[in-house]
Amino acid sequence: MSKPESQDQLKMERIVSLCKRRGFIYPSSEIYGGTGSVWDYGPVGVLLKHNVKQEWWQAVVQRRDDMVGLDAAILMHPRVWEASGHVSGFTDPLVDCLQCKQRFRADDLAGDRCPACGGELTAARPFNLMFKTFMGPVESEAAVTYLRPETCQGIFVNFKNVLTSARKKPPFGIAQIGKSFRNEITTGNFTFRSREFEQYEIEYFVPPEQADQWFDYWVDERLRWYTGLGIAQDHLRLRPHAVDELAHYAARCTDVEYHFPFGWSELEGIANRQDYDLRRHQEASGKDLQYFDEAEKRRYLPHVIEPSGGVDRSVLALLVDAYEAIEGGRGAAGAEVESVLRLHPRLAPIKAAVLPLVKRDGMPDRARAIYDDLKRHWFVEYDEGGSIGRRYRRQDEIGTPFCMTVDSQTMQDGTVTVRDRDSMEQVRVHADKLIEFLRGKLGEG
Ligand code: ATP
Repeated sequence: MSKPESQDQLKMERIVSLCKRRGFIYPSSEIYGGTGSVWDYGPVGVLLKHNVKQEWWQAVVQRRDDMVGLDAAILMHPRVWEASGHVSGFTDPLVDCLQCKQRFRADDLAGDRCPACGGELTAARPFNLMFKTFMGPVESEAAVTYLRPETCQGIFVNFKNVLTSARKKPPFGIAQIGKSFRNEITTGNFTFRSREFEQYEIEYFVPPEQADQWFDYWVDERLRWYTGLGIAQDHLRLRPHAVDELAHYAARCTDVEYHFPFGWSELEGIANRQDYDLRRHQEASGKDLQYFDEAEKRRYLPHVIEPSGGVDRSVLALLVDAYEAIEGGRGAAGAEVESVLRLHPRLAPIKAAVLPLVKRDGMPDRARAIYDDLKRHWFVEYDEGGSIGRRYRRQDEIGTPFCMTVDSQTMQDGTVTVRDRDSMEQVRVHADKLIEFLRGKLGEG
């Protein structure tokens, strides 16, 4: 690996390395050399990702009266993608280097020469980002379909189904979490731009005259959600799109951006899509997708406010924001660089580790009993291997907020030490009170 050029690059390299070493994120198909554009979540990564998705689901579906959930299929009728405009227009401008044959997104390039070798570039041509595949056993043109490049079309085509079965009326929204696929020309910055990724999307259907007011509401709401997860306020910003930057269907769009080590980049886009999608699907399918407002005796196509975020980008932002490298360690002898992941306890993959101080005098059995008790409620770990300092540092690296150590005093009075990941302070708590203690700390009390 080449020497990092800056502190930011060093930080990113350390995070990528911690993710692999501790089981957050691995390159996909690594034993075959990896793919470079697809990533796998390991044992603690899958827990973190699950917790992030659960936070989102609770905030935008469970705790609201005006939202319902959906889980639409990845494969859809190919006409969906014609109607949505993706077959003709979901493209990025592609250029080839005539010398080294590498391909680039024209709008990523600063000059008109190849950034890799300085060679001459072809003129830009549109490159469709959708992955094509075949439905059924015959590989003919008629069987072509696509892996969805966004989850929201599954919501639009189900608008009428949800309207009738969930008995909702505008303003109301449908939320969905799921995989999307884009054959990005250039990938990179770890999981930030992948070819397979997960999105969380809301389509919020409103009477046309209320679109602006709901747009502003959702921009505020979504920004607040990220700070509520513990991301520092000054690492987040809103970036309204200029008129010439707006997608053709959007009347307004504002991105929530995070200050990554590689620069300010989009976590989520909130767009006013107007009635573009429902109108296109209504025209293409011939089905009436209008809402009839009984009280006002009015029939209309609702306008749509869409907060569309990336789960993988949220996870990456949370990891970056929580990560701290402490040169020389926090008092531990010999530690070169100690890493701590100061994740919000609600997001931490493992809520507590139960550790016998030594492997004798009945401490492992006592610690195991506590562990068995706690694991009925949360993901917790039992670890008896290595020095206690090393075990603490391992938990600090995966963001475990509390380490509970069984020592000789436990054997006498039933209390364990509870060490706080961030302050490293230790308090004694009775083993019978640990569930209550954790509930309080996780805000579940
Ligand atoms: P970008 O400009 O970064 O390519 P976009 O504006 O095309 O993103 P949208 O189509 O608005 O992205 O998708 C909504 C969200 O999905 C993005 O805010 C992002 O969080 C996520 N997302 C989009 N493309 C990718 C990708 N290739 N890898 C990971 N997440 C992605």
